[in-house]
Amino acid sequence: MNIAVIVPPIEDFYHTPHRHASLGAEVVCTIIRQHGHESILLDFPCMGSEATDIPGELGYLREVILPGEYGPTAFFTRRRRYGPSYEECAARIAALKPDLAALSCFAFAYSDSCLKLLRALRRLLPECPVIVGGAGPSSMPDTFIGDNLADAVLRGEAEVSLPPLLDAFLKAGSRKLLQSICREIPNGVTAPLGKPPGPPGLTASAGEIQTACAASAVTKRFQQFSASISRGCPMHCRFCSISFSHGRDFRLPPLESAATRILERTAAEGVPGLPISINIEDDNLLADFGYCSALLERLTQQLGAISVTAENGMDYRLLDHERIDRLTALGMRKFNLSAGIVPSQASLQQRRSQDLALLEDLCRHLHAQGTETVVYAIAGFPGDSRRQSISALQFLRSIPAYSGLSLFYPVPGLPGCAAAADHPSVLSAGSSLYPWGESLSTREMAALFRLSRFINLEKHKHLSHRDKRLLDLIRRDKVLHTYIKGRDEPFEVPDYAADSELVREFFSS
Ligand code: SF4
Repeated sequence: MNIAVIVPPIEDFYHTPHRHASLGAEVVCTIIRQHGHESILLDFPCMGSEATDIPGELGYLREVILPGEYGPTAFFTRRRRYGPSYEECAARIAALKPDLAALSCFAFAYSDSCLKLLRALRRLLPECPVIVGGAGPSSMPDTFIGDNLADAVLRGEAEVSLPPLLDAFLKAGSRKLLQSICREIPNGVTAPLGKPPGPPGLTASAGEIQTACAASAVTKRFQQFSASISRGCPMHCRFCSISFSHGRDFRLPPLESAATRILERTAAEGVPGLPISINIEDDNLLADFGYCSALLERLTQQLGAISVTAENGMDYRLLDHERIDRLTALGMRKFNLSAGIVPSQASLQQRRSQDLALLEDLCRHLHAQGTETVVYAIAGFPGDSRRQSISALQFLRSIPAYSGLSLFYPVPGLPGCAAAADHPSVLSAGSSLYPWGESLSTREMAALFRLSRFINLEKHKHLSHRDKRLLDLIRRDKVLHTYIKGRDEPFEVPDYAADSELVREFFSS
């Protein structure tokens, strides 16, 4: 059986190619092959991009977008579709004549792109059985099923939900039969015909977990492989949707099987002579520090000196000086620390403990070693306030680390996020600055976004003469400025594009 595994295009204001490794789709391909079938991966977001209009649902963003804006304090100006047109994607899938098409939608915010591809695919291949899975469908399966959409939705982890579906499909052989059989399958497979979604899919046991690893970037200096090893997280932050796909238990595959998978992949795809960098995409691998360091040790034994990053962030509460030094010795060259919610009181409400003294101490330790550090924090979550978000930014300004401020994006099913289910999924992207829960307005979030970039401008070691002038101007006037194409002088960001009162409060307190 030929199965096309498809990552649909995504539409957003930005895309970070070195973070895009489609590790969920990689796991699906591995499981399909282990069951004796052929899998072909079509990773569309890697296949070019094209400018698109800002959709009507995001019309409110026009007030904060400054046409022609660019530079270190700028907000986004243009939206793109990363991947070919939906019609072209559908044509490429159809050309493969698949027996089954499996779409992987890795974030709820990109559900709309997945649905557009589903519709285009149905026009070309009305009889082809189609299944969807991933974090997006796991949180809202009903959105993806129906007569002209997917025939089944896989919730939770593919190691558990995919094999029974493949068996069912082999028995069924047709789209209609697959639909009726899927309704009887447990393990998170949901079928159409109005049947309500069942409980979240079962999660894989430690021995069942497939370590995912894929080449994700290549430069003149190194080749990066991204890997995902553990599943779940032992912490239960209220604002985090990880349990929708991975349950509530933290699990690790046997260390040797994880190391073998990564080594096989680097051996098969590594460019001879180019140093290797491993980017760990796990949600919280530090939850077992012994495992994490033993795995990196095992990789360095085989690969020699490697560099290591964790672009998805690391829980700083699980670090101390000794652990930082150990990770540095094992090749970690940059520390991306996840702080969650910075103001302590709000953090507690979100069931996320906080120790800002520790965080600051770790940043100072890393700074003394000359190691680049980014601290990620969230603003705009339900219950956030203008005062809290300003104090979070002031904390980020005060520590020797770059600011990685993210604007909260809700997923249906999270506490306090019921509204997300009734809104277009595109509003749930971090770049959409939608005022969820009315905690912060779009103008306030735009000001926070630009101020976070200003903080990073302040921390850059090597500024051009022009950027130094921009920085001095903002500091002197306590007013945000930016560059606009066609203007020689920095342009004062108007109040409608970033709440100027919030900016004043940030600089004055
Ligand atoms: S520590 Fe991170 S991954 Fe774990 S629940 Fe909290 S936000 Fe989610």
